[in-house]
Amino acid sequence: MIIAMKRGAEAAEIQNFTVLLEKQGVRVHCSQGTSQTVLGLVGDTTGIDEEGLKAHHLVEKVIRVQEPYKRANRLFHPEDTRIDIAGPGGTIRHIGAGHLGIIAGPCSVEGRDQIVGVASAVQKAGAGFLRGGAFKPRTSPYSFQGLGCEGLDLLGEAKRVTGLPLVTELMDIRQLEVFDQVDIIQVGARNMQNFTLLKELGHCRKPILLKRGYACTVTELLMAAEYLMAGGNDRIILCERGIRSFDSYTRNILDLSAVPALKKQSHLPVIVDPSHATGLAWMVPAMAKAAVAAGADGIIVEVHNDPERALCDGEQSITPEAFGSLMESLKKYAAIEGKSL
Ligand code: PEP
Ligand code: MN
Repeated sequence: MIIAMKRGAEAAEIQNFTVLLEKQGVRVHCSQGTSQTVLGLVGDTTGIDEEGLKAHHLVEKVIRVQEPYKRANRLFHPEDTRIDIAGPGGTIRHIGAGHLGIIAGPCSVEGRDQIVGVASAVQKAGAGFLRGGAFKPRTSPYSFQGLGCEGLDLLGEAKRVTGLPLVTELMDIRQLEVFDQVDIIQVGARNMQNFTLLKELGHCRKPILLKRGYACTVTELLMAAEYLMAGGNDRIILCERGIRSFDSYTRNILDLSAVPALKKQSHLPVIVDPSHATGLAWMVPAMAKAAVAAGADGIIVEVHNDPERALCDGEQSITPEAFGSLMESLKKYAAIEGKSL
């Protein structure tokens, strides 16, 4: 249940009202906007007298939320959420609320020259963030599993050279202690419903890039975000990365309709991964542009200096040159959408 307080209601009065609500067995989450305060009631609200609340002199509106997610719900937080991340030299990078986050880099960190080279190239082309996996979730235990801690060190070096904030995947909460230099923690598609991991990351203060599971619904993705937010972490970026269907022409099916759906239901930024969605490098630029046209707040795209020899996901990785021309197009798409890069 969501309660919009009257504009101009005094903070002290709202506080007393909150205490009364909490006595009825619910937790109250308070969101203070510029002109209005909105209260989100978490817990069993079935015993709360809605009509009685509506009659209260401080209350403007009471909304029973049908959706099972509250903190992630746009009803609870009407304005778009913007995630701020420290960039080079004291600058701040934004994702959401009119700012496109462009995250680029290889699927996996493979060595110093590779990661520093790709990082420098994507930075020059205009990327805002560097991606690169150090701990890789691979279908086969015999495939390259990532360089682990060494990969993280190399990402740190690429960050020092380029200033690009880092995005990398965490698969086990024990890895958090070596994630000091990481700016955005990725929870991959395979872990979207690892509720134990989500609960732990709810207590972490770094932003989370939460990828949609390939057999998960839009509502399930929002419920996964709710797990993180229930723990107190409200810096969540949602990512559509393709879902499973019957057609094997592409690696997955990019569900672009999830972008407007998620943005309607939630205030959280939504980005798109055209690389894992299609699995085909030649298709990536078209779908990246389509994502921005569909209202996405950014893209995460795999870029490799030598896709043919990549240790992971070479077929879907674009070259730094292709990324450069994609960036030129995205600037035009961003301008049409009224968004900054
Ligand atoms: C990745 O980003 O490299 C990755 C493994 O993504 P996903 O979890 O979407 O498959
Ligand atoms: Mn990959």
